[in-house]
Amino acid sequence: MDQLNQLPCPVLVTDRMGKILAANIDLLAIVGGSAEQWQQKSMDKLFPLASRIFLQTHVWPMLLRQESVRELYLHLNDSNNQRIPMMMNCQMGQFEGADSYYWVFFVALQRSLFEAELLQARGDAQRMAASLAQSHKELKELHSQLSQRTHMVETANIELTELSQTDPLTGMANRRALAIAITHWQSQVTDGAHASLLLVDVDHFKAVNDQYGHDEGDCVLTALARQLQASMRVSDLAVRYGGEEFALWLPFADHTGAECTAQRVHDHVREVKVAGNSITVSIGVATSSDARSPELLQQLIKHSDEAVYQAKASGRNRTVHFE
Ligand code: GH3
Ligand code: MG
Ligand code: MG
Repeated sequence: MDQLNQLPCPVLVTDRMGKILAANIDLLAIVGGSAEQWQQKSMDKLFPLASRIFLQTHVWPMLLRQESVRELYLHLNDSNNQRIPMMMNCQMGQFEGADSYYWVFFVALQRSLFEAELLQARGDAQRMAASLAQSHKELKELHSQLSQRTHMVETANIELTELSQTDPLTGMANRRALAIAITHWQSQVTDGAHASLLLVDVDHFKAVNDQYGHDEGDCVLTALARQLQASMRVSDLAVRYGGEEFALWLPFADHTGAECTAQRVHDHVREVKVAGNSITVSIGVATSSDARSPELLQQLIKHSDEAVYQAKASGRNRTVHFE
């Protein structure tokens, strides 16, 4: 018995029927009473009902088969009838010269607490993972909405840019597009490159409006725009510069090249007719070899405008090159 008391855990000794032969002080400290009180009683009295059933249906059959069981989890009733969780081993041995069973217990309270904490932590982790997944989903949704918005804004920007550089009546480029094209060209050329500008002004256009109405005047301007576009190279740009004035930007065109284009304009414009009569235009041409000048556009406009004025003054339907 003294030896049992020296063991560092609760120990119970029973016979093959589960009758208590001895209990050490650690076990008595849990279940209450004295060793004598428990002697010859059935060990079942130490356990709550569920553990008793477990003993009968599992533990005893295992013990009879293999003479020992390891790390079984059950409850003991303490002196206040509270259930104490226990890990239990049992081993067959000799007690006072007879085959007996040594039941060794380990209080599993700490382990239960630890398991409860683990379960709690696992639950928290699962909830956090679910919440993260939800946030991730919402973020993806927002990202997709943002991409759509960005795409819409980009598309709207492109449309606005096009609109801001387009003449609504003829659909051709406007004077803003002309300035952009010239600046872009200037950024890419070396000093000394030639370029020309043709300013094309319809002759007596006011009379067209007066005689045939404003709508007919608009049709003439639209037809004229088509003919101007047909008279130039792909690298050139035709824009509606003002009411009945158009400008043709001819990058790299020198004096001769510009005159050539001007002649083609006169030829094409003849195709535009009002009441069977061809429309005519006066063209002022300005050529510059001062390609990198910051005043290039202003100079070309000023000079071609003066040349148009001279063309008008000398009888219209002609080209004058600014000298
Ligand atoms: P010139 O030979 O000296 O150039 O005579 P013009 O009549 O062509 O010149 P003027 O500057 O006296 O008249 C230009 C006319 O162009 C007046 C204006 O009503 C007309 N006009 C300007 N913009 C438009 C437009 O968008 N549509 C129509 N139908 N007419 C326009
Ligand atoms: Mg005019
Ligand atoms: Mg005119």
